[in-house]
Amino acid sequence: MNSAHKMRTNGARLANDAMKANRADRKPRRHTVPAPVWADWSDDALLGLRFCDLRVGLFATPLADRVVRLYVELARRHLRARPHVWLSHEWFAPDGVPGFAAPFYLAHPRLMELERSQMLEVEGGSPQSCMQILRHEAGHAIDHAYRLYRRADYRRIFGRCRPYPDWYRPRPDSRRFVLHLDSWYAQSHPAEDFAETFAVWLTPESDWRRRYRNWPAARKLEYVDWLMNEIAGSPPAVRSRARLEPLSALRTTLREHYQRRRARYANDVPVVYDADLQRLFEACGGRGRTAAAFLRRAQPELRELVARWTGQPAYTIDQVLREMAVRCRRLGLHATRSARRMTQDAAVLVTVHTLNFLRGRRRRVAI
Ligand SMILES: [Zn+2]
Repeated sequence: MNSAHKMRTNGARLANDAMKANRADRKPRRHTVPAPVWADWSDDALLGLRFCDLRVGLFATPLADRVVRLYVELARRHLRARPHVWLSHEWFAPDGVPGFAAPFYLAHPRLMELERSQMLEVEGGSPQSCMQILRHEAGHAIDHAYRLYRRADYRRIFGRCRPYPDWYRPRPDSRRFVLHLDSWYAQSHPAEDFAETFAVWLTPESDWRRRYRNWPAARKLEYVDWLMNEIAGSPPAVRSRARLEPLSALRTTLREHYQRRRARYANDVPVVYDADLQRLFEACGGRGRTAAAFLRRAQPELRELVARWTGQPAYTIDQVLREMAVRCRRLGLHATRSARRMTQDAAVLVTVHTLNFLRGRRRRVAI
């Protein structure tokens, strides 16, 4: 069987799998993996395990269903590359490899719970945020599969790929970059700029032509649109199925992993919010709803109020709200007063911090 045929057969099989996955959502799943021995262990006991001891895979996970959804999206655009996905310690797409790694915690609800208790949030934990990241990583995989980064026109549009910095200082008001993942991530590196632009282009119904009308970033989107039409139907130049740092080869314990990650992101959200948050909420040892949960619930209303008064896009306001929620969790704050009063006060705080965010010294974001 030639590989082109295999590729088409794979596409059809994957689309079929996606339909089955949809049907399976309505019925209880019969094909479940037996629960791992550690499924009911305490956090402390789990942290003592090494990655290679987890013995989890992608099979029958919601992540696997989402990867199939990604393949369907690629097939609809007539792209023949199907990035392979494996589990590792975090999201990454190694240079030159037409696939990417996804974090281990997406393989089991107990591991997601541990991730939340250790890092206070689960990156890619919701279906929507997971698809956003998958489309971004697929951008890198396509870049590598067709060696797009070597093209002169790619380099003219996105810049020449250089070594990754440890941090970047995004410009929140720049219109030269698309808005997709948090923290104006497209601004961090030319390869990230391409992956983010690709992700916006791939997202069904993203309506990018209207959304980015009159933005200089529209030129990048038009280029990606043209380039993807150019490679549509062609087999990828790189077909390696290499998997870097697969879970089964990692001897680090989860405890060491989380210590390292927490040290890396210790200063990712500045303390500028703390005094205001401590006035608005209370550190009352666990009574009432958490302040982070209150902010999450009030987010649509706060976003609308603050957008009306500041004229700022939802993306910037959401970034401020996300940072406030992280600080609330770190400070152990709770929402004890009436919801109406707190929403009014929170709207004032978010307005002030959104304006400070834009006018203040540009923030350093760790990569
Ligand atoms: Zn990336």
